[in-house]
Amino acid sequence: MTFRLSIDEPRWQSGVRRAAQQLPGLVPVIKGNGYGFGRERLAQLSARLGVDTVAVGTESEIASVRRFFHGTIAVMAPLTLADLRSSTPAIGVLRTVAHADVVRRLAELDGPEVVLELDSPVHRHGVTLTELPELAEPLRRVRLAGVAMHLPSGGDRRRVLDSVHQALAALRAAGITVSTLWVSHLSASELASIQGVEVRPRVGTSLWLSDRQSFTVTGTVLDVRRMPPRQAVGYRQRRFSGGTLLVVSGGTAHGVGLYASAAHAGLRDALKGAVLGAVRGAGWAPSPFHWQGHRLNFADVAHMQVSMLAVPEHRAAPAVGDRLICDTRMTVSTFDAVELDPQRPEFTAAS
Ligand SMILES: *Cc1c(COP(=O)(O)O)cnc(C)c1O
Repeated sequence: MTFRLSIDEPRWQSGVRRAAQQLPGLVPVIKGNGYGFGRERLAQLSARLGVDTVAVGTESEIASVRRFFHGTIAVMAPLTLADLRSSTPAIGVLRTVAHADVVRRLAELDGPEVVLELDSPVHRHGVTLTELPELAEPLRRVRLAGVAMHLPSGGDRRRVLDSVHQALAALRAAGITVSTLWVSHLSASELASIQGVEVRPRVGTSLWLSDRQSFTVTGTVLDVRRMPPRQAVGYRQRRFSGGTLLVVSGGTAHGVGLYASAAHAGLRDALKGAVLGAVRGAGWAPSPFHWQGHRLNFADVAHMQVSMLAVPEHRAAPAVGDRLICDTRMTVSTFDAVELDPQRPEFTAAS
């Protein structure tokens, strides 16, 4: 009963290396489910890439990365006042500060080394440029390792770059000297266009998932049963159209069925998938599973560890034990097993 990630490891690693070479000053991002690969595996590869710093999402992720990576670990989640009361600065850990009141409090403590996160067009966290003049004085008493901007991956790129230049100008005007700018979601040429400051790109997706052909996700067929037309099936007791009902490993606990298909989908498709896959559910929503090049439909809402799929009457069905390629979204996927460097004759990549 295995929902499996198969990695052609030499190929995956060389894809990561190739992406890394395009990104001077790279800070690999290792967070959440480790982009499907697991944080430990990404930490190991980061060590082999020879980078001096990696970034994690939250403090709770530090330990898993530290087992394999001995350089600096930057935590991207901003410090809160409560954090300053409860935790002591850890060695080799760089924290983020994104609120003026936390900056002022830090100035009164022997606090951790921090990166100051500035507001950006994403507007997730960050001190605004108008707050900078009043923060110049407390910042002189903070161990400052630069400023950070979490930038949009889409939108008008000229406006995105303008926001960076405006931020650098506002820092200069406020008398805040920074040598390093930590950024997200800029292309190699956009990164190269930023002058006068050391740029550290924080990159996850386009590093770890740069070569989609270097890994494959499959669910194992567990049951194959012929169904007469109009047979009621599944939790929802929807009418089956006839053909073959498959039960395949891979359900909501693995991240399947939350999105019908999101491997390359834009937000619109992902939302459509979410609505079809999770809300309307049963019926004939497309599943992320493929058999012989054809996408199979769900025959029911995804169950927790398996999915029920329909193979139409006119198509040959797989057998128990066959593997179906699943173009699941890596950042929400959990696998029962990870297989390295598999012989992958049957894995003609999903798309
Ligand atoms: C997740 C994250 C990144 C990496 O994003 P990708 O799209 O995976 O490259 C960079 N910066 C911040 C602040 C993040 O939260």
